[in-house]
Amino acid sequence: MKLSLVVPCYNEEENVQRFYDEVNKTFSGLISNYEIVFVNDGSADKTGENLKKIYENDSSRVQVLTFSRNFGKEAAIYAGLSNAKGDLVCIIDADLQQHPDVVVEMLKVMSEDETIDCVAAYQANRREGKAISAVKSLFYKVINKIAEVDFVNGASDFRLMKRPMVDAILSLSERHRFSKGLFSWVGFNTEYIPYDVADRQSGETKWSVYKLFKYAFDGIISFSTFPLKLATGVGLLT
Ligand code: UDP
Ligand code: MG
Repeated sequence: MKLSLVVPCYNEEENVQRFYDEVNKTFSGLISNYEIVFVNDGSADKTGENLKKIYENDSSRVQVLTFSRNFGKEAAIYAGLSNAKGDLVCIIDADLQQHPDVVVEMLKVMSEDETIDCVAAYQANRREGKAISAVKSLFYKVINKIAEVDFVNGASDFRLMKRPMVDAILSLSERHRFSKGLFSWVGFNTEYIPYDVADRQSGETKWSVYKLFKYAFDGIISFSTFPLKLATGVGLLT
């Protein structure tokens, strides 16, 4: 069975080579049939050049997709999933906050129970300020109250999926993609495992408070008819 790693990269010049080395080191002797699909999401730094070097040295194992501008992580994930050839596909960040060791663990969990379609990792320890963490918890409370699908607090897109689930996600033609919701919406048997978030190897998080709010708003609009009902109610009243 072939494993594909889908890696969205935005301004990760210092991290891509490290990520690539760390994956090879971690998988060595354990996993041999794998490919790495890097998606360069319109980086303004040397990420593109560095990915090109990695590709030139290992073109049989590595794919590099390049966006014309920054489209955001969701778009990068979609492009990566569309081009991944594996029977199993894992989405993982380029900054090594999500260590490839966890991918090995996900594979183990999946191999122990054939009814599992997806192993998703959630953050055991949140490495962020109290304010951000509180706002995120509130978001999960609100969205789980009003949305038609379940959202697990702390679960990200760091997950290993079997091919049928990947195909189901790709068959959804949403333009504004909110992966957290799509993963849940398609169903499938998902097992959640905790993982320790490491420190970012280099560079900075791409999330600002504004981006987080916009993202939360997109999620609520995409997966709940509550705002629509509210607007209709208010409209009728006035
Ligand atoms: N990323 C991306 N496009 C963006 C923002 C982020 O492809 O517009 C990638 C980024 O390079 C990283 C992953 O998404 O591999 C997670 O981003 P980040 O580390 O900034 O998020 P955090 O870990 O802080 O939640
Ligand atoms: Mg990160």
